[in-house]
This record gives sequence, structure tokens and C-alpha cells, in this order.
Amino acid sequence: MGAIAAGVQACRERIAAACRAAGRDAGTVTLLAVSKTFPAAAVREAWQVGQTAFGESYLQEALAKQDALADLAIEWHFIGPIQSNKTRSLAGRFAWVHGIDRLKIAQRLSEARPDGLPPLNCCIQVNVSGEGSKHGVMPVEALELARAVAVLPRLRLRGFMAIPRETGDAAAQRAQFAVLRGLYEQAAGLRLDTLSMGMSGDLEAAIAEGATIVRVGAVIFGQRNYT
Ligand SMILES: *Cc1c(COP(=O)(O)O)cnc(C)c1O
Repeated sequence: MGAIAAGVQACRERIAAACRAAGRDAGTVTLLAVSKTFPAAAVREAWQVGQTAFGESYLQEALAKQDALADLAIEWHFIGPIQSNKTRSLAGRFAWVHGIDRLKIAQRLSEARPDGLPPLNCCIQVNVSGEGSKHGVMPVEALELARAVAVLPRLRLRGFMAIPRETGDAAAQRAQFAVLRGLYEQAAGLRLDTLSMGMSGDLEAAIAEGATIVRVGAVIFGQRNYT
């Protein structure tokens, strides 16, 4: 088995163990393989062991990989920060966008989503750690933004996404994920189904708090030189 196939397998085992510990069915957590900075050949290797959903953070890099892998029915997720001049490409080339934190961006994505494609799946990114430098809407503003995004015709609001601050402390890590879970529960009327949270270092804590999509790069593809 190659290193990437072994990485996918290791990740599936971690998800399954975390689900068991949380009393959850492993089928309720989707693995999103984060392939940013890694070449198309690495994505193809993961695909060969059954991985179908991939996440990218840099638009130009993602578009080149999509072109190189056009023969595969990959579900592409954009997980990076969204610039308003990139909304047209994002709306045309991705199945999901996780980082919505402004209504203006959501409106542009809805307007640009091509008629021939199903509505663009999206998540509202929430700044659960309260750090000034992080992207994402503050928790107190998240429900209002979610309600406004949910009615846009060419988007399908699926839920919330967060990138918590790394802490050495498991309880503190879980508390940040619990903020996202709390918003999800308060938004019950919007019929959401997605909590996009948990990465290589903290997927167990995220699954314990209800994650439905974990976004994992390093465990599968190895360490990156940059994030
Ligand atoms: C890079 C990245 C990940 C994956 O991080 P790893 O630590 O490699 O698992 C997940 N989510 C987002 C938004 C990222 O930018």
C-alpha cells in the first residue's frame, strides 16, 4: 500500500474510533481530504482507494488540479477564504463552499451559480475562538447571516464551519466546537445537516461535538511546507 492509501486508511480508522467513543454511527461523518499544496497525482492516489471528496484553499491551484483530474467524478469543496473577485470561478467549479462569512459574497455566489448545476452547497464560517485575525463571522452574528443566506435561490445552506484555535487542552478544544454545535441547534428551523469541523490534530474532539464533515490534510498526504 502506498503512503497516501495508508493515510486514507489511518484517517478512516481514527474517524471510526472517534465515532465509537461518541456513540455515533461512522456513516454520519464524511471525510473531506484536504489536498491543498499536493499535486494532482496525490489526489488520484487517494481516489483509487475510494476517497471522492477533496478540499482546496487556493483557487488557481485548485482549478489546475480540477483540469488535470477531469476524468474523475470528484466532489470539490472550496475551504479557503473567499475574495469577491473569485466568486464566478468558485460558483462554476465547486460543489461546496465552506467559508461564507459575508452576505455580499453569498449573494454573488448565488448570482453566479450556473443554471445547469444544482444549487451550490455552502457553510457559514464562524470565528469560534474570537481571535481578531481569523476569518469567519462572530457567533452572535451567525444566525442572522444564516437566515439571509438560506433564502438565496442558487445556494443551499448546509450548516456551519469553523477552524478553532489550537490549544493543548482537550476540554478547551471541545468548548470551541461546542459553540458551533450550539449555533447548529439554534438554527433548527433552517433544516441544516452539516457541521464542518475537525482537522488532523483535533478530529476526535470535533466528532465528540457532532462534526459531520472532518477536513483532513496532513494525516492523508503528509506535512505541508505552508498552510
Ligand atoms: C489546511 C486546512 C485543513 C487541513 O488541515 P490538516 O491539519 O492538514 O488536517 C482543514 N481545514 C482548512 C480550512 C484548511 O485550510
